Amino acid sequence: MSHAILHLLSNECPNCNKGKVFRDKSFFFSIGFPKMNEYCSHCNFKFEKEPGYFFGAMFISYALGVGEGIITYLITHQFFDETFDLRMIPIICSVILLFSFFNIRMSRMIWIYMFKNYSL
Ligand SMILES: [Zn+2]
Repeated sequence: MSHAILHLLSNECPNCNKGKVFRDKSFFFSIGFPKMNEYCSHCNFKFEKEPGYFFGAMFISYALGVGEGIITYLITHQFFDETFDLRMIPIICSVILLFSFFNIRMSRMIWIYMFKNYSL
C-alpha cells in the first residue's frame, strides 16, 4: 500500500511502475491543464479506458479542494481574533486556485490507481 502511494506521487504507471502518466516536467508544480500520455510507454497500459473515464476524478478533485480549504482555514484562523473572519475567504480561495492544477493531476492519478485492476 505504501509503495502504491509512492508510485502515485512519482507519476508512475499503476501497472508496471516504470512509465510516466503525465508528460509535464514537474508533477507538483506545472501550470496549465495537464498533458497525459494515452498509453504507458513501457507496458502499453491504457490510462483513459473509455471516453469520460476521468469524470469521476472530479469528485476526488473536489474532495482535495475541500481538504486544502479546511487546512488553510485551520492555519489562518490563528492570525485572526474571530473564529471566522471574512478576510479568510480570499486567502482560502487563492490557496484552492493555486492548488487547482495539482488537484487535477493528483485526482486523475488516484482515479487511475483506484481502478487499475478493472478492464473493459
Ligand atoms: Zn506501464
